[in-house]
Amino acid sequence: MTRFNFDVITLFPKAFESINNLGVITRALDKNLINVNLHDLREYGEGNYRQVDDKPYGGGSGMVLKPEPIYKAHDSIDKLSNSKTLLMTPQGKVLKQQDLLRWSSLDQLIIICGQYEGFDERVRCLADEEVSIGDYVLSGGEIPSISIINGLTRLLPGTLGDPGSLIDESHNSSLLEYPHYTRPLIFREMRVPDILVSGNHEEIKLWRKQKMLERTLDRRNDLISNEDYKKVPKSKRINRDSNEIMKFRIGNGYDIHRLVEGRNLIIGGVKLQHPDNLGLDGHSDADVLSHSIMDALLGALSLGDIGKYFPPSDQKWKNADSLFLLSKVIELIRKEGWEVNNIDSVIVAERPKIKPFVELMKNNIAEILQIEDSFIGIKATTNEKLGPEGREEGISCHSVVLLEKKE
Ligand code: SAH
Repeated sequence: MTRFNFDVITLFPKAFESINNLGVITRALDKNLINVNLHDLREYGEGNYRQVDDKPYGGGSGMVLKPEPIYKAHDSIDKLSNSKTLLMTPQGKVLKQQDLLRWSSLDQLIIICGQYEGFDERVRCLADEEVSIGDYVLSGGEIPSISIINGLTRLLPGTLGDPGSLIDESHNSSLLEYPHYTRPLIFREMRVPDILVSGNHEEIKLWRKQKMLERTLDRRNDLISNEDYKKVPKSKRINRDSNEIMKFRIGNGYDIHRLVEGRNLIIGGVKLQHPDNLGLDGHSDADVLSHSIMDALLGALSLGDIGKYFPPSDQKWKNADSLFLLSKVIELIRKEGWEVNNIDSVIVAERPKIKPFVELMKNNIAEILQIEDSFIGIKATTNEKLGPEGREEGISCHSVVLLEKKE
């Protein structure tokens, strides 16, 4: 009894001769692990000329496969109980390793190959699934269907010499496979990594896991979904090497200070005049704009917040100029190898009017960060008399920064 049956409907059965010379697949045919039945569409064609195609209704270029021959061919195939019909089309769902795995538990796949401009739309009703092998267009469904036969067969028990080779393979897990080396040890001055000849199997296993993650981050970042990422041991999730690959980091900062009497009102290094002579209370100069930008910068690199670097308990920072603190934070960011791409802030204050001073604030921040002011956005809004800002109990500021890794 054959384990897996492929029934292919095609105008070009000869195209399948190559599967008799495809190693693993040929062996599976020989061992009766698979059976490939080719159904020549021409035999189901109409009239003396066995016509299978016709001009499209409504005009347009090329010929379209007629529905009757394909339906007849499909009807003629004995259906096993666990069977699916696949239609090869560039408009289908792009084939993934997971699909091959899923189908490998069936007994039969019936594959319909299109040709020319494609097939009459009504052929789609025959398909359980429409499959594309990639975002490009071939002249017929034969190569796509050989790809499916090939990929699925090597998953069947008994086909591969070493079933273990399926385990780490690219696309079986969501990660790409680690690099392989074989003899010689040194080839044209390229040496096999020492770890692989160390004989330390634990270390080799770890190295391979690490390489899988690095490769995937480097080449196919899109494959790493959150779910898959959680499966990677925590200590291996982000390491220095893979961090190198990330070119951007985003940070978000928020600060609010109380409005009180007897204090200066300093925002973005600019001294403002509140109509009721109120100022912002805090240990330093309580400049909410500079503070929220510092928090965003530190947050972008997961370096904590300003309280960690300039604790209120430290007398050194009493009434400190926040622009000076900002200069210290940017030093730290640059030392870590990052540069500011842009900043966007919004100040929430009922009074005084902030807008006339925004350009001055931008100039101050730009000078400290040594970037052009066009990369700094500062906006101001009232809180429509709502909340602590609206009741003039305080002034707050939100900031977002984007950092870029320096080359
Ligand atoms: N005009 C059609 C493409 C026709 S290509 C369209 O735009 O959709 C002719 C046939 O080749 C198709 O019917 C399909 O069976 C096959 N084919 C071409 N590219 C394919 C791909 N990427 N995946 C699967 N089948 C494909």
